[in-house]
This record gives sequence, C-alpha cells and structure tokens, in this order.
Amino acid sequence: MKLVFLGPPGAGKGTISRMVSERLGIPQISTGDIFRTAVKEKTELGLKVQAILAAGGLVPDELTIAIVKDRLSWPDAQRSYILDGFPRTIAQAEALAGFSSLDAAVDFEVKDELILFRLTGRRVCKVCGAIYHVVTKPPKVEGICDLCSGELYIRNDDKEETVKARLNAYHEETEPLIGWYGNRSLLLTIDGSPDAETVYNAFISEIGRFLRK
Ligand code: AMP
Repeated sequence: MKLVFLGPPGAGKGTISRMVSERLGIPQISTGDIFRTAVKEKTELGLKVQAILAAGGLVPDELTIAIVKDRLSWPDAQRSYILDGFPRTIAQAEALAGFSSLDAAVDFEVKDELILFRLTGRRVCKVCGAIYHVVTKPPKVEGICDLCSGELYIRNDDKEETVKARLNAYHEETEPLIGWYGNRSLLLTIDGSPDAETVYNAFISEIGRFLRK
C-alpha cells in the first residue's frame, strides 16, 4: 500500500506512521526526519535547510521533491510506503503523482489548540526517535527513553513561536491538499484527536476500502 499522511504538524502523522511501519512492515519515509538528520550531521543539505527548519518555514519544493523521488526509487519502497510529511504543497502533490501512484491520502484532523498543547509538551528520543509527551505519555523516568534509555530532547521547532509559524505554513500551503486529494477520490479523513491506539485502529478499519479499489 502506498500512502501519504497529511495533517497539521503534531496531528500524529509520525506516531501513527511508525506504528503502521512496525506492525505491518511498511517503510515510513519522513521528510522532516531526513531534514533533521541532515542538519544534525551538518551535511550540504543540512546547511541549506537549517535556518528554514528553525523558523518553521517550508523547504523549497524542488529540493524536497528531488529527495523524495530518489528515496522512492530504493528497492524497499517499490510495493509499499508511507510518506509522512510529504507532500506539503500542491506542487509537491503534482510532482508525486508524476512518479508514483497512491492508494490513499490520509488526513489526520486535529484542532490548532490541541496541536499547540501536543507540540510544546513533546519530547523525542535522541537515539531511537520514540515520541513522548510530558502530560499524556510521560516516560517512566523523566528525560529518558523507555525503549532504549536514550536521552529525550525538545525539538528545536517545537517552541511555541515556531509551532505557530508551522501552523501558518500548514494552513496556507498544505491544507489545500485535502481538496486536491478529495477531488481525486483518494482522501481518507481520520479524527486525529484521540489517543494513538484509537487513531491507529480507526485508520486500520478504514484503509481497506481504498486498497480494494
Ligand atoms: P515535520 O517533522 O514533518 O514536522 O517537518 C519538520 C520541518 O521540515 C518542517 O517544518 C519543514 O521545515 C520541513 N519539511 C518537512 N517536510 C517538508 C516538505 N514536504 N516540504 C517542505 N518542507 C518540509
């Protein structure tokens, strides 16, 4: 199954795509993770995108599209993949349609107030990338990952001002994709506000009708 996960930052795209990836063995491809790794490793790409990520803006389409096109050519992505955080603009969706055919675009709906609460309380494991929340999913030991004992950190772009900029970018650039995929009968809308297990189960019970088409 070939899917894209839409929805605002903090809608749960990362969490749910990881659950699907681990439970169903489908590669999860996150453009945000690709960019963050590049910034951490100070690669040429990282130096180009560092300031954009820190400000909560969008990386230029041309660069983002080239990265995804290359990643989708790898052998593990030939039958199935989940694109988490791509496309984020109509131009990216059009480009993707030119080099891959999707089964569905899954939109996780969450209100802005809940996004702010989720992102400003989010903590991520430096080592394995597991995601926690200080209120709703605290680790057993503060600051330490339950899974691998790695150190938890606050993403640079989870500060309140940056979250607001990311939400603006979402409403302006990405939200129009909901209509774009709706017009192509590829849109599956899932309520992203409950806990992750509930959202996952809703996704699993709905996705089948797109795969049988
Ligand atoms: P995410 O982890 O998906 O929230 O992405 C983190 C940041 O990476 C975003 O705020 C953007 O700056 C950048 N980014 C990720 N995916 C894209 C994309 N498809 N197009 C442009 N910028 C992106």
